[in-house]
Amino acid sequence: MPKPNDLEQKALQIIMNSGNEGLLQSELWRKLGASSREGSRIALKLEDKGLIRRERELRNGRWTYRLYPKRLPASIDSIVDCPCMMCPDSQRCSPSGAVTPQNCEKLTEWLFHIAETDFKILGDS
Ligand code: SF4
Repeated sequence: MPKPNDLEQKALQIIMNSGNEGLLQSELWRKLGASSREGSRIALKLEDKGLIRRERELRNGRWTYRLYPKRLPASIDSIVDCPCMMCPDSQRCSPSGAVTPQNCEKLTEWLFHIAETDFKILGDS
């Protein structure tokens, strides 16, 4: 029989794999092979630890929860438009060089754009 922490790890992995769509808690119980009582306890623990968020959702006339990861693993998509990828100065850019990320306007602009986009997403949810 798996230890409670193993089930938490597995649950978190499943929730993270659900990405921005999240998943219904009943789907999580099914994938974990856990009872609804055990699954609820795990979801609450993960929420208490700040690893997931739960949102109420009306499903087939009954209230349930959809579970979302608070953090997603980084993907290549998240940096594909980073200016460093196509920068002609990338070979001579370094933290201690004449060209540095610390005072790069292109990089700063890109980071601000990401921060604004994330802020909008968080504001919508
Ligand atoms: S930090 Fe700026 S200068 Fe350095 S590689 Fe990235 S875009 Fe180019």
